[in-house]
Amino acid sequence: MNCREAEGCIEEYIGHQLPIERQEAFLQHISQCTECREELEINYMVYVGIAGLEEDRLDIYDLPGALERELEVSHQQVQQHRRAQQVNYALTTLAIVGVILCVGIQIGLWL
Ligand SMILES: [Zn+2]
Repeated sequence: MNCREAEGCIEEYIGHQLPIERQEAFLQHISQCTECREELEINYMVYVGIAGLEEDRLDIYDLPGALERELEVSHQQVQQHRRAQQVNYALTTLAIVGVILCVGIQIGLWL
């Protein structure tokens, strides 16, 4: 993901609308690119700050901390997603092996 793509993701990310597949690339870019990280921080301050004032939320008094926690949760979500994908892949592989075995046994019975 490049800077332009990352900047395009900021709004979606803050609004929890960014698909998990793009979230991974976005988080990776943010962790390496200080410019985009700052851009995210500024946008986060503005969006969440205003929303927090309207909703009278307490976490607006520690916005950098709130963003930090949000990023931590996002990292965990990405890891969970990746683990789920691995399990899915393993189960699919097992299912395919099972089908191949069944077909093999069936063919063995026919011969
Ligand atoms: Zn960047």
